[in-house]
Order: sequence, then C-alpha cells, then structure tokens
Amino acid sequence: MTEPIVSIRNVSKKFPGGVIAVDNVSIDIAQNEFFALLGPSGCGKTTLLRMISGLETPTSGEIMIGGENMAYTPPNKRPTNMVFQSYAVFPHMTVAQNVGYGLKVTGVEASEITRRVAEGLEMVKLSHLADRKPDQMSGGQRQRVALARALVKRPKVLLLDEPLSALDAKLRDGMRLELTRLQETVGITFIIVTHDQDEALSMASRIAVMDKGAVQQIATPAELYEHPKSRFVADFIGKVNLIDAKVLGQKGKVLNCEAKGLGKIEVSSDKQVGSGVAIAVRPEKLKITTAEPMSSAIRLQGKVRDVAYYGDTSHILIEGKDGLDLSVNVQNDTRLGGAGVERGQKVWVHWAAEDSIVLTE
Ligand code: ATP
Repeated sequence: MTEPIVSIRNVSKKFPGGVIAVDNVSIDIAQNEFFALLGPSGCGKTTLLRMISGLETPTSGEIMIGGENMAYTPPNKRPTNMVFQSYAVFPHMTVAQNVGYGLKVTGVEASEITRRVAEGLEMVKLSHLADRKPDQMSGGQRQRVALARALVKRPKVLLLDEPLSALDAKLRDGMRLELTRLQETVGITFIIVTHDQDEALSMASRIAVMDKGAVQQIATPAELYEHPKSRFVADFIGKVNLIDAKVLGQKGKVLNCEAKGLGKIEVSSDKQVGSGVAIAVRPEKLKITTAEPMSSAIRLQGKVRDVAYYGDTSHILIEGKDGLDLSVNVQNDTRLGGAGVERGQKVWVHWAAEDSIVLTE
C-alpha cells in the first residue's frame, strides 16, 4: 500500500462505566479507497468512525490522517467530514443554502460559495432542485443534499455513518450505485459504517469486519466471502454451513478428518491445524442429485426438510445424519425450478472438496 491516508494505530476507547467499545484496533486505509467498517450492533464501528472524525477521542493509540497524528485534534481542524445517519438538513433553507452553509460559516467568499455549491449539486445530480426546500424532496434526494454539503468542503476523507439505513429497500439499491459512482468521480477516500453485509460487499473496495470492539478480518469483499478466517466472519458474511470435524491427520496440505454427519473426509488446508476444526461451505456450492454422485466429491445422503422458493433461487434444507442439517441454494435457471425436489424426498448432497473452507478459530 502507498502511504495510507488514514492509519489507525492500536486505538482503544473505554467509556466511563467501563465499556471497552474499541479494543486495540489497527487499520490502514489507502487514499481513494471505499472502505467499510462492518459488524453487528454494538461492535464499536460507530465509535471508531467518530474517533476518526474527532467527535470522540481515543483512550489510547494514534489516529494518523495525512501523516499527522490527529487523535486529539478537533473535528473542524481535520481534513474529514461526516455524513450522518439521519442526514439532518435545515428545513427552512433551500437546497443550495443547505449545501453552502458549511462554507458560509467558515467565511468562504460568496462568489466562491456559489461556484462550489453549483459544482456540489452537479456531483449529486441535484442542480435542477437548487431552489427547493428539503420538505419538498424524497428521502433519497435529501440524502444527496447531505452528501453535497459534505463534499463542497472538499474533505480528504468522507465519513458516512449508515448512510442508507433511512431509505427504503428500492431506493437503497439505487443509492449504493450512486455512492460508488460518486466516490470514483470525486476521488475522495470514503469510510462507511454499516451493519448490512450486502451494503458493504457491494460498495466497498475493502472491509474491516468487527466484533466486540476488535477487528476480526480486513480484506476485499470476495476474499472475505471465499476465505473467511474465522467462524464469526464466515457466519456474518453471507450464509454458511458450519460442520464440526475432528482432525485425524495432516500430510502437507492434505487434512484427514472425521466430520459430523459425513464420516471420514479429505480437505486441504494451507496451515498446520490442531485437533478440532470447522468445515465451512457456502450453500450455493452444494449440489443436489437424486442419484449418488459419480465423482469423488464430499457427499451425504439426506432428506429434504424444507424448500423455500425465492423466484431467482430456491433455498433447500437437507436433514442428514447425526443432526447435520445443510442449507443448499439452487439457481432457478429454468422454469421448472432449481433442483426440482420435494419435501420428504431422499436426495444426495455433494460438493467439491476444494469448496470446503477449513476454520480453526
Ligand atoms: P450500532 O450499529 O448499534 O450503532 P456500533 O457497532 O456502532 O453499534 P458503538 O455505537 O460504537 O457500536 O458502541 C460500542 C459499545 O460502546 C456499545 O456497547 C455501546 O453501548 C457503547 N457506547 C457507545 N457510546 C457510548 C457512550 N457515549 N458511553 C458509554 N458507552 C457507549
């Protein structure tokens, strides 16, 4: 990575009363990245974002922004700007006045404000609504006003706290695309906080997955999905089947284990593992057939317990041996529907050994 624009170094935040909201977190964020802090409610992501913005100060650690430790610098002295969840806009001001407000209070000249407001509205495609009042606009449009207001201040880093959570589902999809387009156009580093994995996966170039104040893994969306490092990440990002297994032996990369409901199987692992592991496999990697598979795939015979139809896909739950249940997602790529199986039917479930992820944590 070239010199990071934001470097969070061993940052912790302990609130009065003893809650450790952020626990020794280190993250480097590169210039021009679309970076997401993702995790369940209470994992500390908002507190971390607020410390980058200066709204909160760390108990220990450094927050380097543009090469300078700004851990204790007030928000208005930092090259960052924040867009809040509720994207509060002033109801009595027009869109243009709202966008120019931050510039006006910092004493920017009127002609410069006019120019930058026009530029900001252009960026978020709102030029035609410059004279409207916010209450005459949709939620998505108000969101853009808030974005433009932050962008005209020309921050080096734009911080976004759950920016899409107040929008309805359809609008949210559209705004995701808009935000990625905007980030590419303006070339500013975006750091977004979200608890919505789809949002993070579809927009971010890299994601830090957090749990209980700590970073569990930092990686690209595809890396997190295909190579999660822990049960927590595998389970939090997308859906997953987790199968407990006892390790019988390891020769180089080949791992022999006794897996729950599967018996003896061979999987591959890049690292030396201990005695117990979990085998993770994504539902769409599993195949269902009525005849026993010919290949050397990992397999089991089971009974269809449930079929849920979602239009483009069907989610099938298979009851195997020893209490092992497996979720299988099939693509409904013909009008007859995916696997064409019914509740109660006996089927084979199988998958390629290389689609198994071996987890030790
Ligand atoms: P959410 O998605 O629900 O907003 P989050 O991951 O953003 O959650 P934080 O808001 O950062 O989590 O909170 C992390 C922990 O710190 C929580 O246990 C929370 O209750 C606690 N916390 C946050 N702010 C304060 C505060 N001002 N005083 C005391 N505890 C706080």
